[in-house]
Amino acid sequence: MGELYIDGEWTQAAAGGRRDVVNPYDASLVTTVDEADATDVDRAVRAARRAFAEEDWADLPTRRRADLLLRVHDLLLRDREDIARTETLDTGKTLAEARIDVEDVANAFRYYAELAGKDGGRVVDVAPDVLSRVVYQPVGVCALIAPWNYPLLQASWKVAPALAAGNTFVLKPSETTPLTTIMMIRLIEEAGAPPGVANLVLGSGATVGAALTRHPDVDLVSFTGGLNTGRAIMAAAAAEGPRNIALELGGKNPNIVFADADFDAAVDYALDAAFLHSGQVCSAGSRLLVEDSLHDRFVEAYAERARAIRLGNGMEDGIESGPLSSAEHREKVEGYIALGKKEGARLVTGGTRPDDPALSRGFFLLPTIFADCDRSMRIVQEEVFGPVVTVERFRTEDEAVELANDTRYGLAGGVWTSEASRAQRVAQRLRHGTVWINDFHPYVPQAEWGGFGRSGVGRELGPTGLREYQEAKHIYQNLAPAPSGWFKG
Ligand code: NAD
Repeated sequence: MGELYIDGEWTQAAAGGRRDVVNPYDASLVTTVDEADATDVDRAVRAARRAFAEEDWADLPTRRRADLLLRVHDLLLRDREDIARTETLDTGKTLAEARIDVEDVANAFRYYAELAGKDGGRVVDVAPDVLSRVVYQPVGVCALIAPWNYPLLQASWKVAPALAAGNTFVLKPSETTPLTTIMMIRLIEEAGAPPGVANLVLGSGATVGAALTRHPDVDLVSFTGGLNTGRAIMAAAAAEGPRNIALELGGKNPNIVFADADFDAAVDYALDAAFLHSGQVCSAGSRLLVEDSLHDRFVEAYAERARAIRLGNGMEDGIESGPLSSAEHREKVEGYIALGKKEGARLVTGGTRPDDPALSRGFFLLPTIFADCDRSMRIVQEEVFGPVVTVERFRTEDEAVELANDTRYGLAGGVWTSEASRAQRVAQRLRHGTVWINDFHPYVPQAEWGGFGRSGVGRELGPTGLREYQEAKHIYQNLAPAPSGWFKG
């Protein structure tokens, strides 16, 4: 029995490929899993196509699909501790974070179970002798591709609405973090999904991801990951399609602190914003903008708190942040740290690997703060995706907004102030998909998530997150058919 799940069977990669899964805390081997190739992808897409056409899944009363989602929700909660521990082994994140992730994954299933069937479309007012209505139907076969930072969470934001809408899918997690996704698919099987509705392939982006996004029988590609991969997926969707795409890409997210903000809360949340999960968060507040009059005091307190962050094994109590996800990723982040120095940013703290010998085998980096940054620097404009924050100064509200919007991304941003009207004004003007006021990072399944600009195309979560997996159909009925008489002959 292998770890690919195709047409209701657990199966091995046709060519026998295997891949090591490594714990980033100490580089130890966690397990090995099947590594698919284009042949397996083809089998999985065919299975999803067959199920879409032949199983009664898409035509089930919505309530029945919603019941399945609720069963998955319950099973996720039944197994939450196991899943959370596996996510920590796979990603290095703390167990506390992984437990929250699993709750959020379960909530996504419950939310879409509750939303499904609530919207029967709409009747369009045309004329008394016409019945015109718009209904929403599943798109078909969905290719779902997820990243490694929130492996199960990002997958669930796709899987739950795709199933609720009546689609079938082939899911590919990141090759570095496949384990909890395998667990989720087992739960979907246990919950009673018909064969071929949910399919799982594992493997590299270049081989398996590319084969999936190029497959002619895929109707929709929903992808979460980096900007360059998003571009490649968009190009493939154009070449092989056009077909529907949804892209959740990166961010370089501003966190604006006005001088009248609650000081302790703003410093505290600026840590969460930038250093949670070692900054490997698409919405990380890695671009801190501080009002000039507060700047020096703020940076000093911020650096002191950053130095106190306890790095270590995410499995242990009291550990506040884990390692980066891989040796290669750490090297990339170190490259950015070197670049920041070269560009003239002032290193306030961090910038190196920790010297604690207990952490020497893992892919750790110290929380790093650069001050005296300006918007022309690449370290300010590019997504580093590590524990690295840049600090810029601003003097006026207009300048804060202008800086915060000076990014090619537009995923999320925060604003800290005790003046309510200013908070709303700034939130209104920010060109970002999510804006937090006196907070950072919360998201809820009821509210849309996604980016302006290069941060993506489409939205996940909320009612729009279901619409991504639906086609609108207009059904127009003439209630009094008679010859139109247009052609006279
Ligand atoms: P990545 O783009 O390298 O990989 C993401 C997924 O795409 C993986 O499963 C990978 O195997 C696959 N992939 C890689 N090349 C591919 C190709 N040519 N064709 C098809 N699939 C391919 O991203 P990552 O390093 O895993 O994740 C980090 C990135 O994800 C960051 O940029 C982060 O901001 C972004 N992200 C965004 C969100 C969001 O909600 N907007 C959430 C999490 C992560």
